Amino acid sequence: MPFDQPTGAPLIETKALSKRFGDNTVLRDVSMGVASGEVVCVIGPSGSGKTTLLRSMALLEAPSGGQVLMDGTVIADGENGRAVRKAARAVRSDIGMVFQHFNLWPHMSVLGNVIEAPMRVRGLGRDQAVAEAEALLEKVGLAEKRDASPGRLSGGQQQRVAIARALAMKPRLMLFDEATSALDPELKAEVLAVMRALAEEGMTMLAVTHEMNFARRACTRLVFMDGGEIVEEGAPAAFFDAPTTERARRFLARLE
Ligand code: ADP
Repeated sequence: MPFDQPTGAPLIETKALSKRFGDNTVLRDVSMGVASGEVVCVIGPSGSGKTTLLRSMALLEAPSGGQVLMDGTVIADGENGRAVRKAARAVRSDIGMVFQHFNLWPHMSVLGNVIEAPMRVRGLGRDQAVAEAEALLEKVGLAEKRDASPGRLSGGQQQRVAIARALAMKPRLMLFDEATSALDPELKAEVLAVMRALAEEGMTMLAVTHEMNFARRACTRLVFMDGGEIVEEGAPAAFFDAPTTERARRFLARLE
């Protein structure tokens, strides 16, 4: 699969992004970026704003302030959301997202789930959509389940279908929101293996995760959030072995 080559310039970026739900300020001036080919993990205590950050980048939440940019073009703007609507539409299918609860369409087969958006949105003919979907199902180890109903699959299998479904849109960026949190340990492993393989192929990824082994081994950069802010950011090994802030030390101590 052809991925963007690493260039160092951010593929997606937030500038002073803030988000309020009523009186609750959930993100405060968050500025961060993900360059092509990077695998960035976002970790932090529950309620620190990780999911909201990811959903804002996926254009599923409108910012209260600040901006989201893709390739340097503003796609979400807290001040003037209307002005960037067209730019947002243009990049929507460049961003694939995988949710904690797989959200597969229950009334469609596995194959149906994977071919739906490419046919409707990318305008592929059925034969080509099926051929691409079969290759993706093979990639996530589920070729033999193509005709199964999602309800008959394990959670890990459903999540791998959800990954194949997101990849079918040929996104340039994959966002994973606690993709393994709803799964039993042995099922987590099969999903994490698929995510690692994608990362190794060069897919640009941003993953909110509680899997510290994945964060340490598979990520190229780690972002630690607390209280709606980025508190630390850097190489995973440096963070885990020598966190520089008290908040990060407290977070890591609680994990042990
Ligand atoms: P995390 O992913 O780090 O656990 P979230 O981004 O899910 O954090 O949530 C941060 C805060 O935002 C929490 O206090 C949560 O209750 C609040 N929040 C998230 N989504 C909404 C929403 N749609 N409406 C109101 N409050 C929300």
